[in-house]
Amino acid sequence: MSLIVHKYGGTSMGSTERIRLVAKRVAKWARAGHQIVVVPSAMSGETNRLLGLAKELAPAKETAAYQRELDMLASTGEQASSALLAVALQAEGMPSVSYAGWQVAIKTDSSFTKARIESIDDKRIKADLDAGKVVIVTGFQGVDPDGNITTLGRGGSDTSAVAVAAALSAAECLIYTDVDGVYTTDPRVEPNARRMPRVSFEEMLEMASLGSKVLQIRSVEFAGKYKVPLRVLSSFTPWDINIDEEAKSGTLITFEEEGASTMEAAVVSGIAFNRDEAKISILGVPDKPGIAYQILGAVADANIEVDMIIQNISKDGKTDFSFTVHRNDFARVTDLLKAKVLPSLGVTDFVGDTKICKVSIVGIGMRSHVGVASKMFRCLSEEGINIQMISTSEIKTSVVIDEKYMELAVRSLHKAFDLEA
Ligand code: ASP
Ligand code: MG
Repeated sequence: MSLIVHKYGGTSMGSTERIRLVAKRVAKWARAGHQIVVVPSAMSGETNRLLGLAKELAPAKETAAYQRELDMLASTGEQASSALLAVALQAEGMPSVSYAGWQVAIKTDSSFTKARIESIDDKRIKADLDAGKVVIVTGFQGVDPDGNITTLGRGGSDTSAVAVAAALSAAECLIYTDVDGVYTTDPRVEPNARRMPRVSFEEMLEMASLGSKVLQIRSVEFAGKYKVPLRVLSSFTPWDINIDEEAKSGTLITFEEEGASTMEAAVVSGIAFNRDEAKISILGVPDKPGIAYQILGAVADANIEVDMIIQNISKDGKTDFSFTVHRNDFARVTDLLKAKVLPSLGVTDFVGDTKICKVSIVGIGMRSHVGVASKMFRCLSEEGINIQMISTSEIKTSVVIDEKYMELAVRSLHKAFDLEA
């Protein structure tokens, strides 16, 4: 008998019929002798619908007062799906109880719409499990020190599930979704993408931060910090599939280095991409101490995150300075540059480009192999794709290219690194 956390995404919870199937699957696991805690997302589309209603009444604002109400509102989606699942389980003859985040309590800080979990009290959950109940805990939400409801950012139910699993020292956290695991790249872009039976935690972290949408990045960070074994699997298999078979399906996120190296010498494990960035280049900035700080310090002070940064060698005491930000921050950054930064640098010229994308190759094997990046560059050059920026870390190489070549780049790299099914 093990304590296992199941997380079900919005599509898995998308209708009463789907919720009934989730209840049957959960009941099967509980009847096999496991203690089960379920963390559901809101029914698909519900969070967007709720937030859309608020926008109809008042345009989005950064004020704490407004953000607080968004959390009050959006958290109801998970409250509804959790209660519905409890009802469905009871209809299956399985004792169950659902709790909102504040009832558990899942304590967070006060950053509305992007709160961080600080602690989880396991008493109530444990008592119910010991009483033979399936316990359902709302995903995506918590409560701040003043008793306000908070939410954890879009996709935050993944993080709730991992945090609950960590707090309960669960044997495994099963993330049920509408795909059957983590793929070498998005199968919508490359139909020959392959499911990875295992992926190392570090690779998963890179893939999530580089744009793979399977897991919220914070949930992966959390899993790493607390060593929670995670598995991504499908809720669209027949609910009565053999439980041992189900327990081995999907993709296991593994912490064993050994597991990683036996992953058949795949130097590159996956290709990630991200269309959410924009590039800004400031031309002819004076090449002297303090310039990078003058530019990026102002951007950081405005609470805008910078991803890639490039500074060229200088010519005649001048250099070009480029960086990327999230596309949603592009207008704010250009306003800031025009108003503050450029005048103080004595520069007038800058170029903004929102039609870029970042494509990355990720693999633990890159640590011990040379020539991986150059193979990537050769592959892109053979397709006539110009590289605008490059950044590397121990286990990834990313390039910024013109957005219109994104699919071509992903497919050619997927092939060049032998990732096809
Ligand atoms: N319902 C929330 C969202 O749509 C949280 C989640 O599904 O993980 O972002
Ligand atoms: Mg999700």
